[in-house]
Amino acid sequence: MIQRIQLEQRYHQQAMQLFSIPLCRHAFFRFGAPVLLALIVLAGLHHASPFSTTNEALVKSLPYILLPVAVFLGELFNQSRTSLAAILLLFSYHIIQTWLQSPLSIPFTKLAYTVLAVALPLNLLMIHRLPERRLMTRSNVFFLGAVLVQFIGAVFLVNLLASFDLTLIWQQYLISFPLISRLPVVIILLFIAVLTIHAMLVFKRNHPHDHALFIGTLFSALTLTFFHYSMISSVAYSVLSLLLLTNLISCSHELAYIDQLTGIPGRRSLDTEIKHLGRTYSIAMLDIDHFKVFNDTYGHNTGDDVLRLVASILAKQSNNAKVYRYGGEEFTIIFKGRTQNDSLRFLEQIRKQIEAYPLKVQDHPKGEHSMDADIASTNITVSIGVSDNHKMDNPYSVLKAADKALYRAKSNGRNQVCQRLHA
Ligand code: GH3
Ligand code: MG
Ligand code: MG
Repeated sequence: MIQRIQLEQRYHQQAMQLFSIPLCRHAFFRFGAPVLLALIVLAGLHHASPFSTTNEALVKSLPYILLPVAVFLGELFNQSRTSLAAILLLFSYHIIQTWLQSPLSIPFTKLAYTVLAVALPLNLLMIHRLPERRLMTRSNVFFLGAVLVQFIGAVFLVNLLASFDLTLIWQQYLISFPLISRLPVVIILLFIAVLTIHAMLVFKRNHPHDHALFIGTLFSALTLTFFHYSMISSVAYSVLSLLLLTNLISCSHELAYIDQLTGIPGRRSLDTEIKHLGRTYSIAMLDIDHFKVFNDTYGHNTGDDVLRLVASILAKQSNNAKVYRYGGEEFTIIFKGRTQNDSLRFLEQIRKQIEAYPLKVQDHPKGEHSMDADIASTNITVSIGVSDNHKMDNPYSVLKAADKALYRAKSNGRNQVCQRLHA
């Protein structure tokens, strides 16, 4: 038998918003910024005067420098799917630079261009199926091997077909509107479909690789759709590489500062924030009562649910308070510009709210969600200690004083708020 908490709907939704986004937040920004940049690139190249020879050489070489850096950082930050996307994009950029620089009226170039435009989005899509591990795992090596096999097959196919007259096929099945794009409409639709899937994933779960695959597809689609714009591949791939790197760095930053289980800022964020607290502030330490017993009774997973629930209740009460997971089942709340007396009413409110929260623990056979399973109701309580910085210079001493007050709350019988006793 396993037992799970059924969180009350309103908290459940809120908690999900908090912790279904373990790493990269700000989905709208992560979607909107690349789209805006893609439009700027397009408008810029539409109106731009040609690059000088030196600038042209520099922009052309940028993706060759930045994409390998993205591969390396992805590996360093355990984001192998972003690394794989960067490898694919680097490979496609190299194909564009070496094989597709002749006019598309040449059958070989046109065929190679079309095959690349089909293979690239589909392979980028495949990366979702791979596990997020280190780069050189069996499945990743297998995937890269499959890409190589496709490449060899494509070279063979393109060479073979280039000697035939395919005018009828181009005119009947692969219709294009050359004023807008040289790419057949059906392939533009494929790009749109793949891009929509990536965009939906960015909004739905927003994992770091979702964003990487979205921008990879967006900028390669931009390049291949508007292939007749001079320098489009170099400019688009340079912007894409910079976005990939920004994404990798910002996600690893969040990984370090956001607690993965609860989705609220963790200890490292607290250590940064604690240095900038201003003239008056108070710090509260909150600890779940008898949590070990709770874990022993309902299991560690249910315990994790409770930690998420408490985090979401705390995060909801903004009230100018900042909330951190200090570690284990302890949370820290910082009130800027408030004395401990000012924050008492608020802390008491939190304590009551957690105590009153009905935890529905559902008993059901492992793996089954039986409708008529027994539902037991239980509660948890928390103890809180709070201290302000009255006559104290060091914020860590304030935190220690709050911890001491917490200890008093525990020894006085738990489920209460205690403040530091001023001398
Ligand atoms: P007290 O009322 O004195 O605070 O008792 P307690 O049992 O809460 O305190 P104790 O420090 O003895 O136990 C803390 C428990 O919190 C032990 C540990 O299993 C649990 N815990 C710490 N971190 C996690 C976590 O991430 N998930 C879960 N499920 N449990 C955790
Ligand atoms: Mg504790
Ligand atoms: Mg405890």
